[in-house]
Amino acid sequence: MSDENCIFCKIVNDEIPSKIVFENSTTIAFLDIHPISEGHTIVIPKNHYKTLENLPDNEINTLFQTVRDVASLIYKRLQVGGYNIVQNNHEAAGQVVNHAHIHIIPRNKGDQRFKAKIPKSQASEEELNNVLEKLKS
Ligand SMILES: [Zn+2]
Repeated sequence: MSDENCIFCKIVNDEIPSKIVFENSTTIAFLDIHPISEGHTIVIPKNHYKTLENLPDNEINTLFQTVRDVASLIYKRLQVGGYNIVQNNHEAAGQVVNHAHIHIIPRNKGDQRFKAKIPKSQASEEELNNVLEKLKS
């Protein structure tokens, strides 16, 4: 499965160059050309799926194995302090390329180029119950 207008499919099909970190039969990991930090890597399924919820079970397993293996490689070889795994789905969440992909962002203590903002205000019991009802009904 491939989309002729998709930049990540073009990387899979070797139509545009990329710096490949790891590749197996169903996944590929390559360096982000707009890195947040040194070693920022993108992992994708070779098949074209728009978002996480489109991925079939067998491919999601392999995809996350690749994420784990490449994250371990980055952590050890680049000797960073840690890493974030980021996966944006749909435009509202900041997805730019419509081919499901996972960012591995190497981090070091005190760096300021990437930060998840966690609100300080706590949700009320009622707010949590309302959302839980929507999810479970
Ligand atoms: Zn694609």
